[in-house]
Amino acid sequence: MPERLRGDSPDYAMPEFTRASRALASASGLGRVEHTSVFGPLLAARKLAEQAGSVRARVAAFDAARLKRAWLESVESIAAARVPKAGPDRRALTARLTEQAGPVLSAIPALELAAERVRSSGDTPDADSWSAWIAAVQALFDAADRFWFTIEPELGPRAPVKRKGRGAAARAIAAAAIGVSALAGAAQAQHVTVRVPGVAAESLRARGFDVVGSEGGVPIVVADPAQLAKMELRGWHGTVLRAPSAPAASRLGAQTIVSTQIYRDYDDPVRGVRAFVDSMVKNNPLVSVDTIGVSFQGRPMIAVKIGPKDDSPQRPNVLFMATYHAREWAATEMALRLIKYLAVAPGTNPRVDSLVQARDIWILPVANPDGYEYTFTNDRLWRKTRSPQPGGAFGVDMNRNHRQNWGLDDVGSSSDPTSDIYRGPSPASEIETRNIETFHAAHPPVISISYHTYSGLLLFSPSAVYGQLSADLPVYRTLAGTNQRSAVKDNLPGSARSFYSPNTAWTLYTTNGEYNDWASAKYGTLSFTPEMSSGYQNSVYYGFEFADSETQLQQLFNDNLPFALDAIESARDPFAYVSPTTFYHTDRVVLESVSPTIRATVPAAMASGASISAPNPLSFRIDSLAAGKYTRRLVAAPVTRPTSLSVSAGGQTANFSVLGINGAELAETGWTANQFTRDSTFAMAGKYSWFTSSGGDLKSPVIAVPADADTVSLVFWTRYAGSGFSELPHGDVNLSIDGGTTFQRVMLLEGYAPLFYPEQVTIGGMKGKHLVFDFVPNGMLWSLDEIAVVSHGAVTSTVTSNTGVLRPSENPVHHSVVYFPWPFGTATGDIQAYDFSGRLVWKTSVTAGGNVPWDLNAGRVANGVYVVIARGGTRTLRLKLFVVRNGS
Ligand SMILES: [Zn+2]
Repeated sequence: MPERLRGDSPDYAMPEFTRASRALASASGLGRVEHTSVFGPLLAARKLAEQAGSVRARVAAFDAARLKRAWLESVESIAAARVPKAGPDRRALTARLTEQAGPVLSAIPALELAAERVRSSGDTPDADSWSAWIAAVQALFDAADRFWFTIEPELGPRAPVKRKGRGAAARAIAAAAIGVSALAGAAQAQHVTVRVPGVAAESLRARGFDVVGSEGGVPIVVADPAQLAKMELRGWHGTVLRAPSAPAASRLGAQTIVSTQIYRDYDDPVRGVRAFVDSMVKNNPLVSVDTIGVSFQGRPMIAVKIGPKDDSPQRPNVLFMATYHAREWAATEMALRLIKYLAVAPGTNPRVDSLVQARDIWILPVANPDGYEYTFTNDRLWRKTRSPQPGGAFGVDMNRNHRQNWGLDDVGSSSDPTSDIYRGPSPASEIETRNIETFHAAHPPVISISYHTYSGLLLFSPSAVYGQLSADLPVYRTLAGTNQRSAVKDNLPGSARSFYSPNTAWTLYTTNGEYNDWASAKYGTLSFTPEMSSGYQNSVYYGFEFADSETQLQQLFNDNLPFALDAIESARDPFAYVSPTTFYHTDRVVLESVSPTIRATVPAAMASGASISAPNPLSFRIDSLAAGKYTRRLVAAPVTRPTSLSVSAGGQTANFSVLGINGAELAETGWTANQFTRDSTFAMAGKYSWFTSSGGDLKSPVIAVPADADTVSLVFWTRYAGSGFSELPHGDVNLSIDGGTTFQRVMLLEGYAPLFYPEQVTIGGMKGKHLVFDFVPNGMLWSLDEIAVVSHGAVTSTVTSNTGVLRPSENPVHHSVVYFPWPFGTATGDIQAYDFSGRLVWKTSVTAGGNVPWDLNAGRVANGVYVVIARGGTRTLRLKLFVVRNGS
């Protein structure tokens, strides 16, 4: 634990000494026996001084005689490692190294002089003596740093990394390290998890601190000693919540690897991730491997392919990635287990068999291999890559480094190279980010999942700006679900959560340069970030350090598997997918808002020909901020509250009647507000919105659903301040269908949404019922405005008959159903479709006109060119129809 957390007297505080040490943290040096020799004694002395209870003991930790002896022994051991045979060659090398170590060896007597001055004034030396001694220690560290750069070019190839137990050379160094383990020094550079009371998470993030959670409103931050010092300078005192487990107490450098039962590091030739994948490839014909590039430190970035080895444009790509953030080990376990699951012997699992043959499935188990390996050797909670950055800092947050929204603001990422959310000097500055982006260009995924830990969330785009919604939101919700029916249940024993909350990513916090935003903007990819596990077990925080337990990791995998399989299966046609996990599907028209503007999503191909009426036609724009691939959002010009409205797209019209609407205006009556007040600070429309900071509830009057309407939507604008890190503050929307006697929840909101955005829920089976909606906050500040209850009328055809033109709902056809508005008025007839070889593939009789659907899925219609012929009365119309759907 860094001494700053123990409330030492600031007068005799010790600086870190190593902040300017470029050699100490140099990637090329880490893992070398020699590196440990050079820095071990100094770091050990510093550790000892840090633990000392008095000024005298601190000074004694840097005892000159012992330091000199340790250094001479270090020089000997470096020479012995280079020239194993004792003799003139080794003596010559020792002499040369001793000469090169001259500045270090002369810094030691200078330190001794300064120490003598401090000792002579007891335990309360004057400021001058103390700062002179600090300066002398710093000079020693700096000399050691320069010494490393002098000798490093001559050291030759790196000694092979030994595992499970230190080698003889390392043992010699440990022995040389003046009474304390040289390995203890490594703890100094490590990250710890701290609570930071009295400051908002937003303020911490705005200063580049890595906020990873929140407990009772108190931010949890992962920070290294330098970051803790920066916090202290601002008067923010961190208290250690959890000291890092393995490898914190282990060693300096990569001499040994942390011992794990289940987790695999990257490099281990027997148990590592690469070794595991190699053995899968060797033993399983379904598994092949591709290197998508190399990392900064030269590690191959491996992408595993399951299924046919070739990459077919007929098969949609589905991509799984893990461990953008080095410390999130459970994410890599998820990916490895998914490889194993999908590579099951054919005949064992029919669903897997067909998916594996009909998709191109890619799995990148470690997106950040250098950082990942570093968490096994040096710093369990390391997050970033390991490339050198300005000012001696290391690493970039890959999930802030993508080319979309890069550097949009300093809250969603940091420009400070020492920050754990450092975005890098330029977009895609990291080779690992570029490798991933290049892979996408070659294999654009229809769906991708980037596994992270932890928080128990299923996040999707957009992430950079509060209040924005993807135009593909209905498809995201079909797959990920809602808080009512999430795609991922959390069955881990003692977890703080029972499901992962599916939500737009900014409900956790805003980020920029993030992966989901990039993939969806660039390739229309439906891209998800599961933040796996709640981070708690039996109320005990473990955060990123998910248990090294087969049972628990398998449970984590089992919980996340159904969503992964849905992602693969839906990739053929996400718009048409009916999820067997969430039981949601995507409606053709989703009404998002009635007032102050009418907003609705429609199938993307039909957006430009759509229309909105309330009841007269309104002009509208297509929301271009969120260019959906499957659905597009229409936003109509502002209109006074309508009593009915309709949205037409692709020849079909969805009709809605407004049964009730309330926006907290003074003239509105009938709603019962309990602790909800009319707030004029924020309003979406009119003067007021409803707001509560203290609980209570807001209840609608009884609303009667007409006998001809089965389905009802509740649509409203809302903002709220729960927490992205906790399911505890939340808002319930409860519905009574018996006039207010009994209620059940139909919607659950959680997270942080400081700006108004529209929410909606659609409920069937409401014919003739007497509804009461009740908004109940649970520890959540909550604003509501323009709350509308809307019934769905019959879907009608808006196409005028007798047009004499055969015009399908889309051509080329991207969706599973194409509609032909009947062009012959009341005349009966039929429609037929022939493939290019003249074979009849579809025929249907038409007796009632309207919109005639052709279900391409039901007919297993392949991509290609078809001739469609409509015959009515004595007339015949022909059309060449192109079918170009994704995948098989
Ligand atoms: Zn992460």
